[in-house]
Amino acid sequence: MRKEPTVICPVCQDQQPMTRTLTAQSNQNVIFTCARCHETIRNIETNKGE
Ligand SMILES: [Zn+2]
Repeated sequence: MRKEPTVICPVCQDQQPMTRTLTAQSNQNVIFTCARCHETIRNIETNKGE
């Protein structure tokens, strides 16, 4: 099983794999869509580093 970076939803605090919740836009913005509460958040901070 691969280790994936995760994102914690700021709304419901659910931890989810980045690959399933983040959509990268062409302008390098990132949109997070929570699979649990379906909240959509733009430019969420991730722990992938700069
Ligand atoms: Zn959520």
